[in-house]
Amino acid sequence: MARFPPLMISLDHRTSPKPEEFPSELEGLRMTKQRREVLSVIMNDRDHPTANDVFARAKDRMPTISLATVYNCLEALVSHRLVKQVNFERESSRYCPNLADHCHFQDENSGTIHDVVFKKGVKLEDFLELPQGTEISHLEISLKGSFGK
Ligand SMILES: [Zn+2]
Repeated sequence: MARFPPLMISLDHRTSPKPEEFPSELEGLRMTKQRREVLSVIMNDRDHPTANDVFARAKDRMPTISLATVYNCLEALVSHRLVKQVNFERESSRYCPNLADHCHFQDENSGTIHDVVFKKGVKLEDFLELPQGTEISHLEISLKGSFGK
């Protein structure tokens, strides 16, 4: 059985809830059949899919779903902070179910995007000259590079 709140399920990489296992409401968002399907797709394969990827995967189980509906679902899920939108320059947005603070690293050779967490105990203030009293409400750090040989 999936555990909730959503932060808990998103951190548990072993279980991916089936669409019907989501509650009827999450973070104030009514979970329609389509939204459940889209969220389930994103949680199933944590490879940071694009909207088109999500559409292709959702269609397998829900042949009637349209790309426009997928976009609407993604927008609703992002605005209710159930998934994160990941942006790399000049590329389509991708979607990530990991709600913990983390950065994204794109391997330039394969295009694969990996979650990268902060070292234990390190805070943004430790390496950024933030003006006094700054409160960060949104974190988005995207890195590109390659793995050492
Ligand atoms: Zn991520």
